[in-house]
Amino acid sequence: MPTTFDFSQALLDWYDLYGRKDLPWQQEPTPYHVWLSEIMLQQTQVSTVIDYYQRFLGRFPDIQALAKAPQDEVLAYWSGLGYYARARNLHKTARIIVEDYDGDMPASLEALTGLPGIGRSTAGAILTLAFHQCYPILDGNVKRVLARFFAIEGWPGIKQVENQLWLRAESLLPKQRIANYIQAQMDLGATLCTRTKPDCPHCPLQTQCQAYILGQPEAYPGKKPRKAIPVRHTQWLIMQNELGEVLLEQRPSQGIWGGLWSFPEISPDEDISSYCGRYRQIEIQSSTALASLQHVFTHFRLNIQPTLLRCRVSGVADKDQSKWYRIEDTFKLGLPAPVKSFLKSFNE
Ligand code: SF4
Repeated sequence: MPTTFDFSQALLDWYDLYGRKDLPWQQEPTPYHVWLSEIMLQQTQVSTVIDYYQRFLGRFPDIQALAKAPQDEVLAYWSGLGYYARARNLHKTARIIVEDYDGDMPASLEALTGLPGIGRSTAGAILTLAFHQCYPILDGNVKRVLARFFAIEGWPGIKQVENQLWLRAESLLPKQRIANYIQAQMDLGATLCTRTKPDCPHCPLQTQCQAYILGQPEAYPGKKPRKAIPVRHTQWLIMQNELGEVLLEQRPSQGIWGGLWSFPEISPDEDISSYCGRYRQIEIQSSTALASLQHVFTHFRLNIQPTLLRCRVSGVADKDQSKWYRIEDTFKLGLPAPVKSFLKSFNE
C-alpha cells in the first residue's frame, strides 16, 4: 500500500495535467458558488448542472438575493433538476445565513453541518474549495475511488462501510494544495474511475489500486441490496376552462414535489365527475382519457392516468393554492418534470 503522500501526490500530478479547471463554479469559488454547485451536483451530472447553475446565479447572484426571493420562484429556477428538497433547503439556509450570520457563510464544520441540506461531505467541499481549510469529502465519486483503491467491501450506504471510507479519506489528506486535491478526487471519479468501465490503464493510482490488482474494479463499491420498487397509481385531472386555461394546485410543502405546482390528483378508484361536482362546482363538458405515463422516484414508481376535462366553471374563485393558468404562464412556476413535459406537449 502506498503512503499517504504517494496517493495525494499521484492525484495532484494527474490533476495538473488532466483535471477539470474550467467549470463555471471554479472560476470564482466563493462559498456561495461552491455551496450552490455542490447541492446541484448531488444526484445530477455536471453536464446537466451547468445550465441550471448559470441561470440560477443569473437570477440569485448572492445569498442575499436568494434569501429575499419567494420560495415559488426558487423552485421555478430548480424546475427539472429534481430532488426539490435540495432547493427548499438551499432557500431555508440562505435565510438563516442572512439572519444569523450577517449574510456570510460560516467557515466551520460544526456551523455548516447545522444548516439545512448541508451534510459532512458538502461542508467539507465548502471548507476546502472556498475557505482552503483541510477537510475530507465523501461524495459518490470519492466513495467509489476509495472503495476501489482499498478494496473496501460492502455498500457505502451502510454506516460501518461509510465510517471506514471516512477514516481512509481523512488519513489521505495532503498538507498542501487541499482544494486541488479535493477537486482531483472528484475529477478522477467522474472521468476515469467511473461506475462502469473505469479507465484503469490511464489511472494514476493503478499500480496500487487493490480492486484493479484483484482484477475486478467494478465489484467495488458493493451494491445496494435490491428491493422490488413498489408501484403507486394516481389520476391527474387536466381541467381546461372555456378560456383554455388549466387548473393547477400548489402541493403541500412536505412530501413528493413539495411546494411545486401540479394538476389536481385523485386516487385511481375515485370518481371524476363526483369529485368535480363535490369540490369544484365544475360542469364537465367532455372527458377524454389520455395516454398514461410513468415517473420513477428513488423509492417507487408512479403510474399516472391523465384525463382531459373540458369544463364550464361556476363560482370557483382562484385560491392561493389552486389557480387557473394560461399554459404559457405555467412555465414560470415551479413544476415537477413530468408536469412540465406534459404541459409542453399539450401546448404543442
Ligand atoms: S485503477 Fe481503476 S479502479 Fe482503481 S482507482 Fe484507478 S480507475 Fe479506479
